[in-house]
Amino acid sequence: MTSAEERVEGWKPRTRLGKMIQEGRISSVEEVFAEGLKIREPEIVDVLLPELQEEVININLVQKQTDAGEKSRFKAIVAVGNRDGYIGLGAGKAKQVRTAIEKGAMNARLNITLVRRGCGSWECGCGKPHSLPFQVRGKCGSVEIVLIPGPRGLGLVASEEAKVILGLAGIKDCWTKSYGSTRTIPSFAYAVFDALRKTCSLVTTKEWVG
Ligand SMILES: [Zn+2]
Repeated sequence: MTSAEERVEGWKPRTRLGKMIQEGRISSVEEVFAEGLKIREPEIVDVLLPELQEEVININLVQKQTDAGEKSRFKAIVAVGNRDGYIGLGAGKAKQVRTAIEKGAMNARLNITLVRRGCGSWECGCGKPHSLPFQVRGKCGSVEIVLIPGPRGLGLVASEEAKVILGLAGIKDCWTKSYGSTRTIPSFAYAVFDALRKTCSLVTTKEWVG
């Protein structure tokens, strides 16, 4: 598997944003998002978030009936995050597990998103970004998850997969409630990702007033 350093070394940007980053005209993900630019090359994320970590969330064997017979491929769901407010989730399919993981990791980079953190727990009030600023709900298919802000020291009260994703995003304390077929790991992981993404799209009534 190629490392982020190797990818960056041999990188020849194919997009305008890629070129701007290689020329040093843009040097942070914040700027990319502020300009409303879309990330189309995983190397952009490698350059801007060099401390990114990867975790395989799920691997499935997918069998498909074709004219040529049965075709089986692996599908990997991979999460990436810097444990400090950035999270991405992606899927990759390939004949080999390794390649599926690699593709998933690249797609996760392309889906990188900012997570707004905060201390939204009335029991805490420390004001530090250890949890979520408010309750958020995420959905994927029939699976729904609610992330509830928790006090400092609580930890992540969540399933193993949710713990991995929340941890990579930099959330340290929260409660979770889930509904639907939560044992369908891919849908469940996407529901968690959807909830985290919503921390940035939702504006609280408090902010309207303030
Ligand atoms: Zn707090």
